[in-house]
Amino acid sequence: MAVLQIENLRVSCEGKEILKGVNLTLQTGEIHALMGPNGSGKSTLANVLLGHPGYQVTEGKILLDGVDVLELSPDERAHLGLFLAFQYPLAIPGVKVAQFLKRALEAKYRYLKEKTGKEHKFQVGQFLKELREHLAFLQMDEAFVNRYLNDGFSGGEKKRMEILQMLLLKPKIAILDETDSGLDIDALKVVAQGINKMRGPDFGALIITHYQRILDYVQPDRVHILYNGQIVESGGPELAKRLEEQGYAVLQEK
Ligand code: ADP
Ligand code: MG
Repeated sequence: MAVLQIENLRVSCEGKEILKGVNLTLQTGEIHALMGPNGSGKSTLANVLLGHPGYQVTEGKILLDGVDVLELSPDERAHLGLFLAFQYPLAIPGVKVAQFLKRALEAKYRYLKEKTGKEHKFQVGQFLKELREHLAFLQMDEAFVNRYLNDGFSGGEKKRMEILQMLLLKPKIAILDETDSGLDIDALKVVAQGINKMRGPDFGALIITHYQRILDYVQPDRVHILYNGQIVESGGPELAKRLEEQGYAVLQEK
């Protein structure tokens, strides 16, 4: 079991305050949705959770199982079980998908060994077997792993790539920043299946989304609405439906 606690988080970027006291608790076994209009600060929250250097945390805390995450580097956060699927994944020409995934897993095992003293040996055969299973599950061609990371990938391929990483790395808490945006219905279902595959007592997720659509396939336990840097409302799945019907305009009255 793991718990991510965000307490009174205030964040600025280039002198402008973007997050104005965000409170949110997410634990394994739960899937939460974070919705809100463009510019409300959703990606800022995602980026700050994983330690993007371009933002200043001016107040508040982020704790993972009581550990102060703000003191840790992005890779330490990842090794502790936090994962971010980027809204706009970067292309890295020269680095092949298979190589990238292998290195990420090796780094994770190395960290676990240092931390626990127990041997976590990386086994290539096991890795390749699992990789093939995930590719089939995500309806991705095997040749995909020989391409350069995100280089020339379609929108759908980039988002599947993020889900592929999540399935291999098996984080405790995943932050998925608009992993549904720009997808056709088939790709959306595949992405949703990937999230549902992880769903269970050892996994929690924050699905950041603009639209209710993905929530038809991944039922959230809680829905939060971020508006102008604050969570203005939280509720059950019905909140997402109401928002879809009424639009974000109703928030302006708050
Ligand atoms: P959302 O993901 O909800 O659309 P963002 O977190 O991307 O919102 O942006 C929130 C606000 O912060 C916007 O006004 C945006 O222009 C500003 N912002 C975000 N990142 C940066 C940045 N790196 N530099 C300057 N302004 C930024
Ligand atoms: Mg965003």
